[in-house]
Amino acid sequence: MKKILITGGSGMVGNSLQEYLPEAYYVSSKECDLRMYDGVKYLFNSIKPDYVIHLAAKVGGVKANSDYLGDFYYDNITMNNNILEVSRQKNVKKVVSLLSTCIYPDKVNYPLTEDQIHAGPPHKSNYAYAYAKRMLDIQSQAYRDQYGCNFITAVPNNLFGEHDNFHLEESHLIPAIIRKMYEAKQDNKDVVLWGDGKAKREFTYAKDLSKIVLLLLQEYNDKEPINVGNTNEYTIKEVAETIADIMNFKGEIVWDESKPKGQHRKPSDNSKLLSMGWDNEDYTPFKKALKNTCNWFIENYPNVRGVG
Ligand code: NDP
Repeated sequence: MKKILITGGSGMVGNSLQEYLPEAYYVSSKECDLRMYDGVKYLFNSIKPDYVIHLAAKVGGVKANSDYLGDFYYDNITMNNNILEVSRQKNVKKVVSLLSTCIYPDKVNYPLTEDQIHAGPPHKSNYAYAYAKRMLDIQSQAYRDQYGCNFITAVPNNLFGEHDNFHLEESHLIPAIIRKMYEAKQDNKDVVLWGDGKAKREFTYAKDLSKIVLLLLQEYNDKEPINVGNTNEYTIKEVAETIADIMNFKGEIVWDESKPKGQHRKPSDNSKLLSMGWDNEDYTPFKKALKNTCNWFIENYPNVRGVG
């Protein structure tokens, strides 16, 4: 039996991967703080993994990213460096790491293609997270070139699903809307959302990403990163209205146009993934994935991350 170590095992993607890869070793910060080099060495000596799926990261929405630039840089660059360096030392056969479409340059040609990741500075709101993630790609490539390590990187777009972080200041768009609507419904209030709702975004269900990560573990061995997100676009208004429909929220959705509207579109190109045999039809339909996520949130509230 090959041993697979999953970092970030307690996170949203880590939890969803457990359904498809139950026999792997899932590690959270409680078992090992990956910022600690000696701890990471001890972890690898104990488990002796053949493969590593590196999901752990300090992750957050726009506010957390811009309020804690130093923490986002230090935690991510240190964790990534330790994981790749110890994987190299221990002759791990393959490491799959996750980047993010939010690390692409601020000024870029759309759709986002993998060759543009380093073609300009990232958006200033999350530059520290973005550069730390970009270095995960650089280190993976450098170790491949010098040592022959089969270290690959995948680039998801906005993720959502069960076990997400629902903290109002640290969460991403979908979990924030779900929580706000759920609580507004309990209190018979309206919901206020930032911007005008017209910006379009792409979203990928964490369970779909888990299946893709397994496909990459088996079949993707290229040096260059690969975009893996669902490229269907929805306006934020459509997302909010779909969640309202699922949650039977009857209050008003008020758009606070004094707050940032965000870039109009940020489409990405997943043609490389499609050329590997993954089909756009393989992604879970958006409404079904949202329904699963909302139902999970309602069943577990208030014992969900960021609320309890
Ligand atoms: P989560 O925030 O849900 O989970 C983060 C995981 O990292 C948790 O298991 C956490 O452990 C672990 N972790 C954080 N700090 C440390 C540390 N110092 N030592 C050990 N473990 C640590 O993240 P997601 O599941 O949402 O994200 C998975 C990956 O996908 C990340 O690499 C992220 O950058 C990437 N990604 C995510 C997107 C999104 O929209 N969520 C979009 C694009 C990419 P603990 O629970 O103990 O704190």
